Amino acid sequence: MKILVLNAGSSSLKYQLIDMDKNDVLAKGLVERIGQEGSKITHKANGQVLVIEKACKDHTDGIQLMLDALLDPEKGALKSMDEIGAVGHRVLHGGELFSASCLINEEVKAAIRANIPLGPLHNPANLQGIEACEKVMPNTPNVAVFDTAFHQTMPAKAYMYGVPYKYYEELHVRRYGFHGTSHRYVSKRACEFLGLDRNNTRVITCHLGNGSSMAAVMNGKCVDTSMGITPLEGVIMGTRSGNMDPAVVQFIANNKNMTVDQVLNMCNKESGLLGISGVSSDMRDVDTAADEGNERAILARDMLHYGIKKYIGSYAAAMGGVDVIVFTAGIGENGDDLRASVMSGFEFLGVKIDPAKNKGCRSEAVISADDSKVKIVVIPTNEELVIAQDTLCIVTGKAID
Ligand code: ADP
Repeated sequence: MKILVLNAGSSSLKYQLIDMDKNDVLAKGLVERIGQEGSKITHKANGQVLVIEKACKDHTDGIQLMLDALLDPEKGALKSMDEIGAVGHRVLHGGELFSASCLINEEVKAAIRANIPLGPLHNPANLQGIEACEKVMPNTPNVAVFDTAFHQTMPAKAYMYGVPYKYYEELHVRRYGFHGTSHRYVSKRACEFLGLDRNNTRVITCHLGNGSSMAAVMNGKCVDTSMGITPLEGVIMGTRSGNMDPAVVQFIANNKNMTVDQVLNMCNKESGLLGISGVSSDMRDVDTAADEGNERAILARDMLHYGIKKYIGSYAAAMGGVDVIVFTAGIGENGDDLRASVMSGFEFLGVKIDPAKNKGCRSEAVISADDSKVKIVVIPTNEELVIAQDTLCIVTGKAID
């Protein structure tokens, strides 16, 4: 079966068409600037790139443009739209309503809508993507795969914030966590790769990209994660501040005559690596500047490494030890210096990196020393594949693993 994977943003649409029988990505692309001037699609298939500039007033136009590209006789990947067996949608916030992927019906759409207050930027866009598919491909089933679902197994002691309980009851204020599809995939894949029983293994997953999060996965279930009610919590990220005393928001708002919304926008978009280094939100640029002696870039890098270390230490404590540490996403998969730095000092836990295996490692590999008690692995994440696999399971009635 061919599955279309969609990740709809407020003005963009990322997609992949995956042939599940051959485990092959047939096409991928991006529709940009939906609802704005200069909408265009960049579509890649058969080793060729197709760029079409065409006005897209909404997501329905964007989906139509994507289908036109997929059906292009030369640079497309399909002869007929009917070849698409199902569409898997990445949905940001499932709140407490979804602990697994599910077939989309009116009730599911209502629940995604009900979670808009928790994901105000993404959930409306995700819904638009779903509704556009329903319109343009009325006979094709749609499946929702939630970024939050994997973390729903956390115990209350890990997900509650210490504010009065009524805010949890009335407003659902709690930690939800994100990147769940990635944490689920890499924790499972790491165990398979190492020949370990995932139901009897303690894994710490470090998803380090533009947005970064950590998770403690015990016996296949998430028991804690670093992102919170929104993706702002945790380690410092490209442009997000990560953890801080919430009083900082009030302090800056009062002293700079800013609203809470303005301060939080700053914490989301102007902070983290960018805000501290003043150089860039991109780890490669920060690394280059730090290597050249830029002190604020060195500080930004040190803050990230230190933050990751603290999470690893606390998650090992939470699980009574750790068997596997996984690095994934842009920085985790490519940043060998970061991996070496973060793993140093953990010898007391039985963690020993092998510098030669780590250096230059960019693909699935064990990078711990042979005598390391804890295995350290690099597992490239593949969220699209998980979305496609879940979608296939749901439309064929198989259990999701
Ligand atoms: P997103 O969260 O947008 O999916 P990615 O997982 O693609 O992000 O990660 C992007 C981050 O990965 C950027 O900070 C980028 O600098 C970093 N990255 C990519 N290649 C390297 C590298 N060779 N060394 C260090 N960081 C890298």
